[in-house]
Amino acid sequence: MKFRNKLIREILERYKTIDAIQRLSALAAWDLNTYMPQKAAEDRGIILGKTDVLVKKLILDKEFVKLINKAEKEKNLNDYEKAVIRILKKRIEILSKLPDKFIEEFNETTNKAQIVWKNAKENNNFKEFLPYLKKIFELVKKQAEYLGYKEHPYDALIDLYEESWTTRDFESFFNSIKDELKKLFEEIKSSKNYIDKHPLEKEPYRKEDMEKVNFEVLKILNFDQTRSRLDIAPHPFEESISLNDVRITTWYHKKDFRRSLSATIHEFGHSLYELNIDPELKFTPLQRGVSYGLHESQSRFWENIVGRNIVFLRKIWPICKKHLLFLKKYKFKDFYIYFNLIRPEFIRVESDEITYHFHIILRFELEKMVLENKVKIEEAPEYWNEFMKTYLGIKPKTYKEGILQDIHWSMGAIGYFPTYSLGTFLTGMWLESIEKDLGKIETILTKEEGINILQEWFKENIHKFGSTYTSKDLIYKVCHKNFDTQPFINYLKKKYLELYK
Ligand SMILES: [Zn+2]
Repeated sequence: MKFRNKLIREILERYKTIDAIQRLSALAAWDLNTYMPQKAAEDRGIILGKTDVLVKKLILDKEFVKLINKAEKEKNLNDYEKAVIRILKKRIEILSKLPDKFIEEFNETTNKAQIVWKNAKENNNFKEFLPYLKKIFELVKKQAEYLGYKEHPYDALIDLYEESWTTRDFESFFNSIKDELKKLFEEIKSSKNYIDKHPLEKEPYRKEDMEKVNFEVLKILNFDQTRSRLDIAPHPFEESISLNDVRITTWYHKKDFRRSLSATIHEFGHSLYELNIDPELKFTPLQRGVSYGLHESQSRFWENIVGRNIVFLRKIWPICKKHLLFLKKYKFKDFYIYFNLIRPEFIRVESDEITYHFHIILRFELEKMVLENKVKIEEAPEYWNEFMKTYLGIKPKTYKEGILQDIHWSMGAIGYFPTYSLGTFLTGMWLESIEKDLGKIETILTKEEGINILQEWFKENIHKFGSTYTSKDLIYKVCHKNFDTQPFINYLKKKYLELYK
């Protein structure tokens, strides 16, 4: 039994109501992004906003807070019980620092901004979005002041997505990978085997055929349709409604089928984390992935380390050939290279395993400069283009493929991007640990039960704990060392220098 302490059990009993409201909000949010009638957007925004305020009220309830403070003083709490206190105290701290008026203004602004951003992107018109982006940066600056920080206002925002990580942590992370990645990219480009275009990118497909591919590949990955479902969304995402209802979405573009399959596998990776949490943690604050970086380390492991692996691709090659008839003209080698092209892209989500991180570094530096008042929002597109030129050697011709590409800023999610790179580099650490424990990944994947073996490893080492440990503690627990960028760099070098000899 994980929760023995009487006070903790009382806290958890009360928390069930909070959890229920949050899970219903998650269902409403899933619906908003999938099947909701278009005109309902504004109403749904208000409904979700009011729900947030209700949750805030329940968490800041005096009796509830008193109970948590009392339980904190209890002796002999185990890791699970301590985690309940840690997570709830953190939420109380954040919520009590932000005035109601601020929360409402933030919700209202970002709800509207998402619609304005969508139109501005379609019209390729930065000016349309500019007043909202200005307002959003003003709001997050305020938010940072409310929340407080030691060194940099950015610290307060980063902490919302990756607890206890700071601007300084990410600065040293990015400084340590910049040159390595650039050097590796240059080396690949100079290979006689290097190509930057692939005919498979142009092959059109029918949505019905691609749907069959997605479902059959998911079946290989043990996708459980009694606890999950796959739908379509304009931007693929995963949503956890309950322990036995974790939903994923994908997209279809009529051509370049890799994009659809990669998104499906990516979101599947997110869902696996939520589905494998220990049922004893159900309805508690521990029933969710611990942080954004940790979550991304799961999705990107399945998308890249497995999904772009030669053994796995060989496994799914017959499925793809069966439904995508144009593949008859191609050899397996073409299929493999198509999934592993290395080429600077304008769009972050379409970029490869190496150049991806320059998109994140760009965003990190730009957000930081705006918060430091070194760059005005009006000037942001110019800086964006300059950074693109420096890091990727390409210059966007439109706002659509430049500064307007992602939804995050319109949602007020500033400080979020660094977790994408953190998660991806963590996949290298997981791989290193898995290979120590179980042997080479190619050997594992060759086995009939290879996927099960990998999933069991993740369940036992990471998933089952939910949010019991902070991301820093969990990394140490699994890998017996602190965050380390070298394993991922080693993985990239081994794979791509071999491929592009
Ligand atoms: Zn993701």
